[in-house]
Amino acid sequence: MVKICGIGAGYVGGPTMAVIALKCPSIEVAVVDISHSRISAWNSEKLPIYEPGLEEVVKQCRGKNLLFSTDVEKHIFEADIIFVSVNTPTKSSGLGAGKAADLTYWESAARMVADMSKSDKIIVEKSTVPVRTAEAIEKILTHNSSKGVKFQILSNPEFLSEGTAIQDLINPDRVLIGGREGPEGHEAVLKLKGIYDHWVPEDKIITTNLWSAELSKLADNAFLAQRISSINAMSALCEVTGAEISQLSDALSKNTKIGPKFLNASVGFGGSCFQKDILNLVYICESNGLIEVANYWKQVIKVNDYQKSRFVNRVVSSMFNTVSGKKIAVLGFAFKKDTSDTRKTPAIDVCKGLLGDNACLSIYDPRVSKDQIHKDLSMDSEVKHVSIVSDAYEATKDAHGICILTEWDEFKTLDYQRVFENMQKPAFVFDGRNILNVDKLTKIGFIVYSIGRPLHQ
Ligand code: NAD
Repeated sequence: MVKICGIGAGYVGGPTMAVIALKCPSIEVAVVDISHSRISAWNSEKLPIYEPGLEEVVKQCRGKNLLFSTDVEKHIFEADIIFVSVNTPTKSSGLGAGKAADLTYWESAARMVADMSKSDKIIVEKSTVPVRTAEAIEKILTHNSSKGVKFQILSNPEFLSEGTAIQDLINPDRVLIGGREGPEGHEAVLKLKGIYDHWVPEDKIITTNLWSAELSKLADNAFLAQRISSINAMSALCEVTGAEISQLSDALSKNTKIGPKFLNASVGFGGSCFQKDILNLVYICESNGLIEVANYWKQVIKVNDYQKSRFVNRVVSSMFNTVSGKKIAVLGFAFKKDTSDTRKTPAIDVCKGLLGDNACLSIYDPRVSKDQIHKDLSMDSEVKHVSIVSDAYEATKDAHGICILTEWDEFKTLDYQRVFENMQKPAFVFDGRNILNVDKLTKIGFIVYSIGRPLHQ
């Protein structure tokens, strides 16, 4: 029986390994992590992350061919194939601080693999890493492992999106596998491909060289984020020219060369990956003397920051140039719907911006915990200007304005007549996700601002 070890039980490692276990009943999958709290949550009724469909998959496989453990060494020792899905955040200090990927976790995982391996293994990069990381990993492994043990490193970047992770894993657009040239590399690629063959159609599995696979993941996120910044840049222009962003997006999307996806203007992109991966790309370009290319990608992040501050400025300027002492309901805190993840969520910057103008915030998100919001806003629970409540009606009661910061479906179907009646007047809505019907709200009496449209009243 083939044994797989997944190092890192986070947003990628947990769902990815669970789907492999689901689709390959003949393979034993052990997911390991150094975080005891994460592993005990994976072994409990309340999983550490929220993803639609994840609980069902885990319940179906846990205790059969899927286990979660903190015994990293044992499962490395036993595995034939090791998937590494550890975090690769932006470096916070030293060389490349603020841009380069911090590979500390990767290096420590690689050293553990080297120490514990007594038989040949395939190491699969699932984490997003700088191009040519495999070369560094090879060095660490070959210099530290027992004599005679051989490793093949493969790059198999993960393209899942949070909120649709299970669907993306079960039905991927494509699976990318990059390996070393030569017979041993080729054999390793075929072994990994053999796992995906259980459920992914042949034509969706793409094999490349190692460096193309590594760089493809960075390019993928950079292109997606660039598209968001492009439409958001257009939204700013719409607001000052009388053009409507939804009409513009529609017109663009009908051009088959452009296509319809990722054309929704918003308060900005968030999530743990886009910014970090673009910064990583910028660092790689700069390190290789490609300054103009680096500047090009930097601008994607600058436009995103600008979009968030433009939103805050619009809230404050619309509300007679001050939100001091005014109650603002913040609906949604996660960086997107159907996830509890708040990493780099635009809500953090928007809330901080409004607090900077002395607003009183009442925050509601259906999936994000109170503790998480407190942590993200770096406050202790006694701070007076922020309350975190458990439903949207409570959040909006007596509020002067509402900011929609996550596109949760439930915000589309609130009883806005009731909401309006319980708010201070004039009642403002700032729709940072363009999910609400402006005409309907305006008829009720709201003053509505949505991204990329002139102010309606
Ligand atoms: P995460 O922080 O949720 O999970 C990483 C886990 O690795 C943590 O639980 C941590 O405790 C564990 N870990 C760190 N070092 C370890 C070690 N030496 N041994 C065992 N466990 C260790 O991160 P994530 O969101 O799952 O992302 C992981 C990687 O995947 C990153 O490189 C990210 O860029 C990439 N990625 C993320 C997404 C996404 O949507 N989150 C999508 C595609 C790719």
